Amino acid sequence: MMKVVKFGGTSLADADAIRHAASIIKSDPDRRYTVVSAPGKRSSEDIKITDLLIRLYEETQAYKDSTKTLGLIEQRFADIVAGLGISFDLKKEMDKLERSLQDDPGREELLSRGEYLNARIIAAYLQWPFVDAGLLIRFGSDHRLDNAKTDEQIRKVLTGMEHAVIPGFYGCDPDGNIVTFSRGGSDVSGAVVARALKADLYENWTDVSGIMSADPRIIADPRRVDWISYRELREMSYMGATVLHEEAVFPVRDAGIPIQIRNTMDPDAEGTMIVSVLPKEARKHTITGIAGKKGLSDLYIEKAMMNAEVGFGAKVMNIIAGYGVPYEHTPTSIDTMSVIVETESLEPWRNQIISEIDKQLKPDRIMIEDGIALVAVVGEGLWQNTGFAAKMFSILSEAGISVRMIDASFSEMNIIIGVNSADYEKTVRVLYSGLQEYM
Ligand code: ASP
Repeated sequence: MMKVVKFGGTSLADADAIRHAASIIKSDPDRRYTVVSAPGKRSSEDIKITDLLIRLYEETQAYKDSTKTLGLIEQRFADIVAGLGISFDLKKEMDKLERSLQDDPGREELLSRGEYLNARIIAAYLQWPFVDAGLLIRFGSDHRLDNAKTDEQIRKVLTGMEHAVIPGFYGCDPDGNIVTFSRGGSDVSGAVVARALKADLYENWTDVSGIMSADPRIIADPRRVDWISYRELREMSYMGATVLHEEAVFPVRDAGIPIQIRNTMDPDAEGTMIVSVLPKEARKHTITGIAGKKGLSDLYIEKAMMNAEVGFGAKVMNIIAGYGVPYEHTPTSIDTMSVIVETESLEPWRNQIISEIDKQLKPDRIMIEDGIALVAVVGEGLWQNTGFAAKMFSILSEAGISVRMIDASFSEMNIIIGVNSADYEKTVRVLYSGLQEYM
């Protein structure tokens, strides 16, 4: 058994946290390769190292004095080094960083230094080799991850190494420039290392107990999901439940490697297992969770005989796409069509989109309604359960919630409903409590 483990920033925020993470790593000899984030927040008012580095970058760009920010970064790492009681030449690293500021480093290069330094320090503490992510994670000149090259590099460098500490979040392009993933991207680094080395498990250690069956800001103490399939997770995270970076799922899913989300603060708990095929015990649940999002608009179009007009929908979608507005759902009926989009991305193009649809397609009616929220009930077992939908809609009608839209399909293992944003929290609440028997 071989595990690749990744620790998030909160789990490595100071010397005590790192000590604790190290004891988790060392307690299981299968945990051979560790990917680490930069130090995160120690308390809710604290600032993540990556955010300090962003500030540093912005200050240098604006020719502002950055001594204070540099000092804060140095102090954070100095406290960690002192707290761990290791010998580490921080001064040399900080001098390098300071000198690089004079050469106008790229934004991504600067941002990557949090992971780099933390990994160097943790490697020294664990007495494991440090392997720079620039050697392993390779991007193309278009700055997209080069999967083939990355796999090749990881295998070449790490095979034969018993252990390694690897900084997350960044890699290199063919010219040796540092490229970062988007925020939270150390999850992706861990996933590609796990894939290349054909790990048996990718453990993702974080500050929550796993994936929750509903948003804890709406439902107090929601049930933790023990098992979730990759497909269900996609549905849940698309609908707002974010624990993992979106792009971290694909490398391991395609390689058939499960991800286990675990809480550093509760290391004995099992967390959530994300797998391709749910085991039998997990299938007992009809639904895995309820997720949702607000801030959506409904672009509604009505035209008699719309159904007979070949390409009508495609033209609408083309117009919307032409303005770079992504769509979420498109429920249709014979003579009507709705396109659900994020209000924020629609905002700048509202009038243009309406007048273009008007001009090209001559609808009988067209309007945009804001303040729409979507709520998704997700679960692979949904469709085997006759009577489930009836129950769900009777709960909603008893609660006096008017359903604006329904979108459901067998393949998607979810039922998505559109409600007014004002009813969003209430909808999640009544569904969560009313559907307990299915969870
Ligand atoms: N440190 C980076 C961030 O804050 C990457 C990560 O933690 O995954 O986004």
